[in-house]
Order: sequence, then C-alpha cells, then structure tokens
Amino acid sequence: MSRNIFLGAHVSASGGVENAPINAAAIGANAFALFTKNQRQWVAKPLSDESIEAFKQNCELHGFKPEYILPHDSYLINLGHPDKIGVEKSRAAFLDEMQRCEQLGLVMLNFHPGSHLSEISEDECLDKIAESINIALDKTSGVMAVIENTAGQGSNVGYRFEHLAHIISKVEDKSRVGVCIDTCHAYTSGYDLVDDAGYVETWKAFDEIVGASYLKAIHLNDSKKPLGSKVDRHDSLGLGLMGEPFFSRFIQDSRFDNMPIVLETPDEDKWAGEIAWLRGQTLI
Ligand SMILES: [Zn+2]
Ligand SMILES: [Zn+2]
Repeated sequence: MSRNIFLGAHVSASGGVENAPINAAAIGANAFALFTKNQRQWVAKPLSDESIEAFKQNCELHGFKPEYILPHDSYLINLGHPDKIGVEKSRAAFLDEMQRCEQLGLVMLNFHPGSHLSEISEDECLDKIAESINIALDKTSGVMAVIENTAGQGSNVGYRFEHLAHIISKVEDKSRVGVCIDTCHAYTSGYDLVDDAGYVETWKAFDEIVGASYLKAIHLNDSKKPLGSKVDRHDSLGLGLMGEPFFSRFIQDSRFDNMPIVLETPDEDKWAGEIAWLRGQTLI
C-alpha cells in the first residue's frame, strides 16, 4: 500500500515568512512549521502584501499545501491566564496570530493550551482556554485551532488526554478544533510510547478519550528527560531517552499519514538527515 507521509521541521522564517518554505525545501521536507511573527514579542508589524504573496508563491513552487503547514503561535500567549487583563492580552495576540494565518492562506494554528499559574484550578483554566478558542474562532474563518499536548511543566495544563478532551468538549465549532501530539511531551508527561504495550495503549487511550479524528499533526521529538519527568527538553531523534526503535515504529504506523509530522529537534543541521532516515525506515 502506498503511503502519504508528510515530514518536515519547524524552520526559520528569519527575514520574512516567505523564507520558511525555501528553508523547508532545502532539507527535503514536504511539510513544515513556522512562526508568522517573532515568537518572543507581543506585537509584530502586520505582514506586508509582498511578503504574503511571496510566501504563497514559494509554497506553490516547492509543493507545500496549507494542510501540511503548521504555524505555531507565540510562547507568550496564555489562553488560560487566571487574570482578566492577562487573558485579554493573550486573546488579542491569539486573534492576531489567527488572522495572520488567514492572510497566508493557512488552515491551522498550533498552540500550547495555557497555564493556571497556581491561581485557579486546572478545570477553570481549561474552561478559560475553551472560551478563548471560541472567541478567536468567532472572529475568523478557515483556520483550525490545533491544541498541543504539553509535558506538564510548571503550571501548564494539557499534559493529560483528558485535558485536551475537556477543552474540545467546550469548543462550539468542533470542525475547527484539533490536536497536535508532541512525542517528547507525551513521554515526559507519563505516556510510555517507548514500551511495546505502552505504545499501543497510549494511542488507544487517545482514541477513546479525545478521538483519533481530532489528531491533525505530530511534533516528532526525542526527549532528554525521562518518562513522567514533566520536563520539556527535546533531543534529536535517536539521541535521547526515547531512542531509534520508537521513531522507526512510529513512522511505519500509517495512522499518521496525511498530516504534518514536524521535527522540533534541537540540532537543525541534523534535520535533513533525520527526515531521510525516517523515510528510509518506511522502506524496510
Ligand atoms: Zn511541540
Ligand atoms: Zn516542547
């Protein structure tokens, strides 16, 4: 049976978003992730018409379809912020991110759900995140909110599949919400993807708790930190504690076809090699 595997990395958009597809093509990718603005700043200048046009042209030139491009929002945004002013600032920034995706013709925006900062309960935080998503979806069209599972570091929510299901249950437009699973985050949050039975059980639990149809993207990362450590430290494939056999098994699993599989591994000089190695694993 022929496979439809879409592999890439979170590439640089330095010098303009239009450079991201060029950088992705250079590593042999057929999918990619990017920031559409500086991820460490609250406010960015609007995308220019020239930049938008060049982005679309470069995507077309290199064969990247919007379905396999996964923009990631700023790390500053906390859609579950306990304070009124804090959550409003985040909602405004998130809306701007969604609108930038709309302008670029993109169909997904990937984000970390949020943090309760030890001021509200996890459930209250998850409710706030769902409300934040509803507000953003109301004001935009065509872009899906793609929630990423977290390692559970600090006061971050989203480290249990139940958290993702909780948020989705309160999003009004279910057709515009999805999930991205980060393999490093899953592992350090306590899902043992490396263990033979653990691999089977983890994906079964995901299907039962969240629903396989909500899975829209993967972040494929090895982990520097152990199972259940709740620490988010990515490693290059095969160099961390998850190890090569997991990644080989993962890429041979056709349940992850037809969605962007994105490396966020720390050594960008290895990306081309990691992609080639993954493709090679599907031929054995
Ligand atoms: Zn990730
Ligand atoms: Zn991470």
